Formats: sequence, structure tokens, C-alpha cells
Amino acid sequence: MRILAIGAHPDDIELLCAGTLAKFKKRGDKIFMAYLCNGNKGHFEISAPVLAQMRKEEAKNSAKLLEAESLGPVAPDLELYRDKPTMDKVIDIIRKVAPDLIITHSPFDYMCDHTVTSQIVCDASFMATLPNYKTDYPAHTRITPIYFMDTMTGINFQPTEYVDITEFIEIKTKMLLCHISQAKWLKEHDGIDYVEFMKKIASYRGLQCGVPFAEGFQAYPVWGRIKPERLLP
Ligand SMILES: [Zn+2]
Repeated sequence: MRILAIGAHPDDIELLCAGTLAKFKKRGDKIFMAYLCNGNKGHFEISAPVLAQMRKEEAKNSAKLLEAESLGPVAPDLELYRDKPTMDKVIDIIRKVAPDLIITHSPFDYMCDHTVTSQIVCDASFMATLPNYKTDYPAHTRITPIYFMDTMTGINFQPTEYVDITEFIEIKTKMLLCHISQAKWLKEHDGIDYVEFMKKIASYRGLQCGVPFAEGFQAYPVWGRIKPERLLP
């Protein structure tokens, strides 16, 4: 299968679904990792243009660990809108990748870039299938099932499916640590240990399903997206 994960910021996929992506990869699937916002406001000291460039490199380095293609961004942080130029760019990410499954944010996550990403991805993946909606790439041939990844720290999110990522917690950690600007900043500025933060979420989801580490997901529950078989690894 072709798996497309679309996060808001360059490190969201690593925090919330990289273990599952690594599991997909191990069974032979092709992984694509996209982010929509360039991460340029995720620091108080490094300037926006320098930070955006740094974070692009960090995202690429992380994607390399899964031999995944890194795609994006389409907008600066906090300037992501569901307007036509943005939709066309996201539609073209989907058309270029032609995914069998998409993972993105929950519509109830904690901040606007995440919730807008969720809305844009749901809408764009529908629009991507319409041949009369013209962009640079030809239409995708199928409506793609979507899974929402966990909210940040799991608030207001009851998973309907779990993925045991115990075997993949190390690569998830390595991918997360590719985001050097964030790891250092969160520790110095907010006193947050980035890896510990991620592992607490994964171990809590693991506790719920009886394994050391897990990631939780919800299928996007609308007509045309639901499949009778399990799609997550
Ligand atoms: Zn984010």
C-alpha cells in the first residue's frame, strides 16, 4: 500500500503516528510524510526564515529513516487557511502520492493548524478524485480511507483502533530526535523532555490495549471511507 501521513507541523507525525508508519514500512508499504505548516514560529529566538529552513532539513532527515519522501510545506505556521491556493497544493500532494490510506490530525486537536489540517485533508482527498477539478496532477482514482491520529496527549480522543508499536519505539524516538530545534527548545523553554512526552502517550495507549507501546487511531466515519477489513498494521 501507499501510505500518506499529513501533519500540521514538521514533527507532529513523529509524535503521533511514526511507530505505525515504521510498522507499515517493515511489512513492505511505501511511506510518504507531509506537513502543511513550515514550523517557522516554533521558537522564540531563531528567526522565522532560518527556522523554516532548519525544520525542512529536520523533517527530511526523519523521513529518511523510513526511506520515506518528505513533502510540504504549503503555508507558514498559523497562516494555514482552507482557501483555493492551499487546497490546490494539498490536492496535488494527494494526487502525486496516490495513497491507499491517509493518516492526519483529529478535527478536535488542540490548536488551529492541527484542526485546519484535518479539515483540509478530508476535503482535499475528496476533491482530488474529481477529474473536472483541475490542478497540476491528474485525479486520484479512489476515495482514500482516512485515519485520525491521536490528539496531543490524547485529550478528547477515544481510539477505535490501536497499533502495537513496541517493536518500533526506538525508530520513532530516533525520528523524533531528528527535530533538533524542537527537542532543545522544548527542554530549555518549557521544561518538556520531548522523548519522554512522546513515550508517555505511547505507553498510555499501550496500557489500554495490553502492550508496552501503542498508537491510537479513529477511522474517519463517513460514507465512502469505511472499509470492512482492518487497514492499519
Ligand atoms: Zn503541531
